[in-house]
Parts: sequence; C-alpha cells; structure tokens
Amino acid sequence: MIARSPHHEWLFAAGLVVLAAVCAASVLAASFATHQEVAVRITPLTAGATTTPDGDGIDVPANRVAPSIARLRFELPQADTQDQRWVVMFNRDIVEEISVGNAQWRGPTRRFFAPQADEGAIPSVFLFPLPEQWQGSVVLDMQVRSGVGSMLRPRVMSENTATRIEQRTIGLAMSIYASLFMLALVMLALFYAAHDRAFLAYFGFALSGLLMIAALNGHLYLLPGFDLLASWREQGIAALTMLFSAAALQILALYAGLRGASPRAGKAVTIACVTVLGIAGLALLGLESLRGALQVLSMIGWIGASFGCIAISVDAAQRRVPMALPIAFCCILTGLGAIVAELMSRGYIEDLWWTRRGYQVALVATAAILAIGLAARVGDYRSQRDRAKLAHEDSDRRAAREAARLALAEGLQAQLKSLAIGDLEWTAYRRVLDQLQRMLNLDAAAVAVFGADNHSLLVAEPTERKPQFARMVAQRQSVLKGLARTRSPLQVTLDDPGTPTTGAPVPAVVPLPLRSPAWGVMILERARGEGFTTDELTLASEFGRLAVQAIDEAHAAIRLRRSAEMDALTGALNRRTLDQWLARNFSEAHRNNRDLSVLFVDLDNFKSINDTHGHAAGDHCLRRVSGALSSVIGSNELLGRYGGEEFLIVSMQSTSDAARQLGERIRAAVEDLPVEWNGHALKLTASVGVASRWPHESAPNETIERADRALYAAKRGGRNRVSVAPAVFV
Ligand code: GH3
Ligand code: MG
Ligand code: MG
Repeated sequence: MIARSPHHEWLFAAGLVVLAAVCAASVLAASFATHQEVAVRITPLTAGATTTPDGDGIDVPANRVAPSIARLRFELPQADTQDQRWVVMFNRDIVEEISVGNAQWRGPTRRFFAPQADEGAIPSVFLFPLPEQWQGSVVLDMQVRSGVGSMLRPRVMSENTATRIEQRTIGLAMSIYASLFMLALVMLALFYAAHDRAFLAYFGFALSGLLMIAALNGHLYLLPGFDLLASWREQGIAALTMLFSAAALQILALYAGLRGASPRAGKAVTIACVTVLGIAGLALLGLESLRGALQVLSMIGWIGASFGCIAISVDAAQRRVPMALPIAFCCILTGLGAIVAELMSRGYIEDLWWTRRGYQVALVATAAILAIGLAARVGDYRSQRDRAKLAHEDSDRRAAREAARLALAEGLQAQLKSLAIGDLEWTAYRRVLDQLQRMLNLDAAAVAVFGADNHSLLVAEPTERKPQFARMVAQRQSVLKGLARTRSPLQVTLDDPGTPTTGAPVPAVVPLPLRSPAWGVMILERARGEGFTTDELTLASEFGRLAVQAIDEAHAAIRLRRSAEMDALTGALNRRTLDQWLARNFSEAHRNNRDLSVLFVDLDNFKSINDTHGHAAGDHCLRRVSGALSSVIGSNELLGRYGGEEFLIVSMQSTSDAARQLGERIRAAVEDLPVEWNGHALKLTASVGVASRWPHESAPNETIERADRALYAAKRGGRNRVSVAPAVFV
C-alpha cells in the first residue's frame, strides 16, 4: 500500500494550478493581439448540408463519395499595406477532402488523413491563401467530403491573424505531446529501476493517449510509418481511443490498488478492458458494414471508460489513496472537456480554442498528477527494498550467530573433556568472554560466580581489568545477586554511587543460569558507554547458558569416570583400578630406579563387629576407616580397598623406613578413630603389613606377597601393630 503524504498531494496540486494559470494567461494575451477577420455568409448548394442556427457554420452529412458544396460570400476591405493577404481557414476536422475556389481561381485540395508537405510540419488548420490582389466582394464555393459527417466553420482573416492562430494551436499541441512523451519516458525509466508493473501500465497509458490525441488532431499521419494508420480512417481513431480507454482503466485500477480493495470491482475493470479492446479489434477489421455500429460502440466505450475512471478515482479518494482526489477531479474535468468537444463538433456550441483542445489539456493534467503520485511510489519501493535488505542482513547475522553458538558449544565440549575438575569453570568462562569480546566488540568483560560454599570465581578479559572488576563486584555484590536472580540480562550503572557517572560505560549484566544457592553474572562493557541491543544481550545470555551447561556436563563426566574407579562403599579406589595403578607405578619405579612401598591394612577381629552389631555397622566402620586413611595419606600415596576389610596403600618414592612410619600413623589413626553405632562406641584397631619394592622388581606381585606375610606377622604378633617385611640389601 502507498504511504499517505497529504502535504505533497496539495503542494503538487497547487503547483499544477499555478502552471495552468501561467499557460492560460499567455494564451489569453495572444488572443488579445490585433485580430483581422471578416464575416462569412454560407449557403449550402447540395441537399443534406445545413447551416448552423447562427449561419456561420455548415453541417456536412457523412458521404464518402459525393461532395457537399456550399457558397461562401464575404467582403474584403481595402488593403492598408501592399503585402496584406487574406486567407480562408477551417479548423482541422476529420474530412476526407476539402477545397475552395471559383471560376477564376481554385485553391489546393486538403485531406485530413493525408497532409501535404506544403502544410508545414504540424498542420493544425486547413488554410487556403487567397490571391493577393483580391478586394471587395468575393464569392467562393467550398467542396467537402466527410466520412463521419462534419461541422465546418469557414473563417476569412488576414494571413497574420491566421498565422497567430496556427502558432497557438501548434504550441498547445506540441506542449501536450511533449508532456505525455516525457511522462511516458520517465515512467519507463522508473519501471526499469523499480520493476513495478504500475510504471509500465502508465507508460502504455501515456503513449496510447499521445497516439490518440495526435490521431484526433490529424498530426499522426505525418509521421513515417503511421500513414499506414490513415488507411483505417475514423476506425483507426476509434481503435486508438479504445486502446487508450483500456490503458486508462488499467493504470487507475493499479494506482488505486482496486484489485486488493475490491476483487469484484477489479474483475469489472478487467471485463471493461477486454470489451473496449474487443471494440478496437473490430474497428481494425475495417469492415465498411460495421462503420455506423462502430461509431456508436466506440462512443459507448469511451463514455463507459470515462465513468469507470471517475468511479475508480473517487473510490480511491474515499479510501484515502494519496493524490486520488486531484486525479478524480482531473478525470471529471477531462470527461466534461470531451463532452464539450463533442458538442462543439456537432455545432451545438461555438468553436473556441478551449472547446477544441480543453479535454486534451485536462488529460495531460490527469497524466501529470498520476505521474507525480506514481513517482512518489519510488520512495515506497525503496523503503520496501530497504526492509528486504534489513531482513536479509538480519538473517545473515542470525546465521553467523547460530554458527558461533554451535562452534562455542562444540569447542567447550572438546576443551573441557580433557581438563581437571579445578580448571573447568575458569577455562569455560574465559573462552566465552573471549568469543563475546570479538563478536560484540567489547571493551572489557568479566564473569563472577559465587558458589554454595561462597567459593568465588572471577574471570576478567582483559586480565589487567581484573582488579577493577573485583572491586566493583565486591562493592555491588548484593545488587548483582539481585540481578542474577532475575534471570534476564539488563543494562545498569554499577559504579560506586558516590562517583559521577556521566560518560562512564553502562555495562550489561547477564545472569548465568546456575543452580541456587550458587549464582553468577557476566558483566559486559563497551567503550564510550555504547549500549547493547536486545539481540546482543540474548546472544550473551545464550553463551553464558552454554558455558554453564558445558561445565555441568564436564563435572558429570568426571564424576562418572571416577565412580567407575571407586569402590562404592568406601570411596577408595576399587580393586581393578588399584591393580592398574600398582602395575603402572611398579614399572615406572623400576624404570627410574625409585623407591616404592605397599602397606596392607587389615582390621582386627572385624568379624565380631559384624556378628555383634550387624553388617550395616560393619559397613559404617569400613567407611569411617576409609575416611581416616585417606586423611592420613599424602599426595604421593594411593589408597584402595583390596578386598573385604583390607585396604592397600601404595606409597610412591618412599623407603622402607618412611613406609613403616606411615604404617604407624595409619595404625594410630584407626585406633584413635571414634566410631559410634546406635549409641555404642565401637573400638577399632588395624594391623599393618609393610613391604618395599626390591630393585629388580618391575611388577607388584612379590612385594604384595611380602606385605601380606608382614601383615600375617603383625596379626600373630598380637594385632594393632605394624610389621615390616625384611628389606633386601644390595
Ligand atoms: P582378624 O583379621 O583380626 O584375624 O579377624 P577378622 O575377624 O577380621 O578376620 P577376617 O579378616 O578373616 O574376617 C573378615 C571379615 O570381615 C569377614 C566378614 O564378616 C567381614 N567383612 C568382609 N567384607 C565386609 C564388608 O564389606 N562389610 C562388612 N560389614 N563386613 C565385611
Ligand atoms: Mg581380613
Ligand atoms: Mg581382619
């Protein structure tokens, strides 16, 4: 739909009124110039020809074969100057042939459909210059053949006056042609630029209007190629009129958006167009028998199309289509002008220049306003194209962001897979900040996470900004926490309330979807306080969500991996994993010639705990002991459950003596371990067997066997003690 622009509408209309006034003034000025004309009396000499009521015109009946003859009488005054010359002039009506003369003198024969070279480039009247010496009473006979029936008004005037009238007529006709031609060309150019069918329809409208007017004025037959059209005579003119009617209906319907507003009216226009084009086709058949019928049909077609055009433009004006009101006004004016011209050609009203050409001027005015309205559509078209371009860019941006999102999700997954649990969060957030900084053109950004145990993490990009962010987070922690709870990104001023904020960047705070009570936010900053679009904040949110999700998944994966290595009851390494570690550590120690010791820990009289308090109590004790052992061992030791109530500790790089001391600490830890079950304090002790790797040993079996034997020795020795297998001296 067309954008409404009421100011332009009236501005253009006012401009046209001014233009019309200037034209009218110049034409009037020309009319007031000295005018030398003598009165002519007409007497018809053939039957059928009649004079007009005021006797200055003659009505010639349609007869293609036999000419009508009328006698003209007039009085030529004495010549003032030597070169004064008189002419007989007829307006250029649609006649087959016309001539004037008497016994002494005969003028040339003029034909509407076959202008001659001596009539000038744009013949606008039939002119018969009289012999120079003629003065006093003159009697001339005019002979005329007309195919349609013509109303002719012979005028006798000085040659100068005739020239002025001719010039005025030519000037007006040329302006009309030039206007229509230029408008047609401009619209054709607009069609190539904008590809809007309305411009092409306008081109057809202006061109067919131009051809129709040129044919009606008798100028068309001068152009090479168009003389062919003359062979159709009046039927050719009728065909062009019908073509123009169809084009006018079409362009107005398109301009008014009629088919969208009322499909039924649109259909009616299509039917009307097909009908008038049908009449045009009939006319071009050139059948003599259809001549009379076609004259009536083309009149009906012309009147019908005029009413159609008026109805369409009035309806469009009611629907507030821009420029529709002045177009409706001009359509009505054109219709009225056409009626006046028709009445004039039938002799009912006087033949004045404006009655003859008035409707042509009105038609050009209609065309001009329509062109202005259509040209205003270029803006429409441009904004439409801009919108399409924006949508295109938008979808490009979306595609790029979606690709970045996918790349981030995959990158995070791949990167976090190989990381230790402590590095997960830092790495994930760092990557997100890095990517966001590039995509959103950030000045600085940070992630602040507060865990359930109040463990906090602050990642800043660039790293130099970390202290600043740390200060801001510490000062505004409660505000940030509140924002994090809202779960939607926001732009807020986070500066110290005391400091002036003018010109300072307004950061975006993007909550991270962490499980409560943990919470966290991303803080994004742009230089010069530039804001963020909703799209950008959504992207940042999405990236934050991806990071949190990737961290969660990595945590879960690590937990799963661990659970496969752990003993479910005690949380120590299970037997399978312990065996793997033992094999690996023994071969490594052998390769590097390092010390390695193993300690067997077996709870004393454990069976009795099960027997006295039940199996659940025994399980509880095993869990407590496992906890106590893992807190005694250091980072160079591994704890595993070897089986039942036996634990095994692998102590890397430890000599037999150090291992004995560790065994002693373990023994003491178990002895001192307070264990309670159903209100009963349970007393636990353990025996420990220690053995160290012998230098040649690259596998654990023999050392473990020695440790087992040492344990057995400890048991035999009275339990709750450490026994060390003898070392080998090399
Ligand atoms: P000692 O070692 O001092 O010679 O006597 P003990 O009673 O501890 O003897 P032993 O080591 O041979 O007994 C192992 C007992 O540990 C047998 C079983 O009842 C108990 N036991 C083994 N595994 C589990 C377990 O997973 N849960 C519980 N509750 N008891 C277990
Ligand atoms: Mg045992
Ligand atoms: Mg035991």
